[in-house]
Amino acid sequence: MDSNKTVLVVSAHAADFVWRAGGTIALYSERGYRVRILCLSFGERGESERLWRQPGMTLESVKASRRAESEKAAAILGAEIRFFDTGDYPLRPAEETVHEMVLEFRNLQPEFVLTHSFADPYNFDHPEAANLTLRTRVYAQAAGYPAEGKKLGVPPVFMFEPHQPEQCEFKPQVLLDITPVFDIKRKAMESMEAQEHLWDYYTDLAKRRGTQAVRNSGRKEIKFAEAYQRVYPQVASELS
Ligand SMILES: [Zn+2]
Repeated sequence: MDSNKTVLVVSAHAADFVWRAGGTIALYSERGYRVRILCLSFGERGESERLWRQPGMTLESVKASRRAESEKAAAILGAEIRFFDTGDYPLRPAEETVHEMVLEFRNLQPEFVLTHSFADPYNFDHPEAANLTLRTRVYAQAAGYPAEGKKLGVPPVFMFEPHQPEQCEFKPQVLLDITPVFDIKRKAMESMEAQEHLWDYYTDLAKRRGTQAVRNSGRKEIKFAEAYQRVYPQVASELS
């Protein structure tokens, strides 16, 4: 257990972090890390189809429902979550949000950062969230940027797997074994009731990535994995 270490996750919408990084979040939370999720939008327009089919739905009630689901999922995964409500379709972060994110980086000093891929022709909010994350990470590193707190070091950034990886130019470079915590991820996925059609999809994906992890490591005990792509090069003294 090392409670001084932290992880920062930036999610465009209310459920993205659950499907794409839920296992990683649960794993690091179990290891004693403080995991903090910044959720930029509730996904109230683009990723809440099922709720909009119910009669009498309003934008506010969809947002409240997605927020409640998201809070529940974060609690199951052992993470804390902050919502920015920057809109959905389009997600448009205000300058105030940019500044707040710089403060988050400086306060948290994360060991690593998880966010979306640079491209996603199915949802332009995802690259927007990735760009915002990388931009504010760089601002937080700049001594001259006018925000309180110690300037940020160089936490690596990992892009989580998009829903349609090939179209998003996503290449899995890291396969993280999430076998010990997969049950927790499944439980968190099941709290996202507006998107029930994705529960089995992301369970199957974790199994496939698990099979690939075995093929690439020889570690037969791996059953489930999550894939990531690095933004910056890994620096090492040994090739392994
Ligand atoms: Zn999304």
